[in-house]
Amino acid sequence: MRKAPSFGYSPAIMIGLPISLPEFRPGQVWLVGAGPGDPGLLSLLALHALQSCDVLVYDALVDDRILSLANPEAAREYAGKRGGKPSPLQKDISNRLVELAQEGKRVLRLKGGDPFVFGRGAEEAQVLVKSGVPFRVVPGITSGVGGLAYAGIPATSRDCNSAVAFVTGHDATGDVPDSIDWQSLAHAVPVLVFYMALKHLDRISAKLIEAGRSPDEPAAAVARASTPAQKVVTATLSTLSAAVKAAGIEPPALIVVGEVVRLREQLDWLSALAASEA
Ligand code: SAH
Repeated sequence: MRKAPSFGYSPAIMIGLPISLPEFRPGQVWLVGAGPGDPGLLSLLALHALQSCDVLVYDALVDDRILSLANPEAAREYAGKRGGKPSPLQKDISNRLVELAQEGKRVLRLKGGDPFVFGRGAEEAQVLVKSGVPFRVVPGITSGVGGLAYAGIPATSRDCNSAVAFVTGHDATGDVPDSIDWQSLAHAVPVLVFYMALKHLDRISAKLIEAGRSPDEPAAAVARASTPAQKVVTATLSTLSAAVKAAGIEPPALIVVGEVVRLREQLDWLSALAASEA
């Protein structure tokens, strides 16, 4: 009989809780999702990795409050865009992870949201596999689910949709992806959640309307979700782009199209809590 996987939960590491977590061993890379922003949304494994890493390689979407939880002795390497300069090449980041692991470091590669959802985590993991570097993936709460929840917009609701699609608003060249079959997407999926779509919002809305979606369908933009700077704008598919400009919404932001957006009127729990605490 095949042995059940142990998930590496031995030897036990305690972080002040009555459960054990796997040891972060020297020479390993942990590819960790930090969630959409709110540090309270980190997983126990993510917190453990922050506390025990030797090097933290992080990108632009990781909130400063999360970085402040890292072991103060850990070296930090920033792997995102800085001061208008282009981001380091993906190849260079992956190779750097290999290099650090081969130096015997505990390497925490921390990414916004989930590392395997539009996060290039798979590409980095493939390089680690090729180089024989042992690694663990720690999923995070993806912004397209958790970020929307902070805006009171459920990704699914029984009365509205039994399917949801996560779509990227731009491809590797920075343009609206050619590979998307807009007709099929528009017809088959009642709720569409777009990542990285702010820049091309006009064109994306036009493509969806052209493919048959109603211009009057509810749509929303949620920026900096789950952070103190969260901003939400609701409109319709045809008016969202103008509403986003008028509200001065800037990236990172999600765009959501579909009937679930209407539920925010009832489910905006964050504003309700803020009002009750004021
Ligand atoms: N791996 C990430 C996505 C990285 S792609 C995840 O799982 O969430 C970058 C895009 O993610 C941004 O352009 C934006 O569309 C979205 N995003 C990430 N964090 C966000 C946040 N706090 N609020 C709104 N959008 C966010």
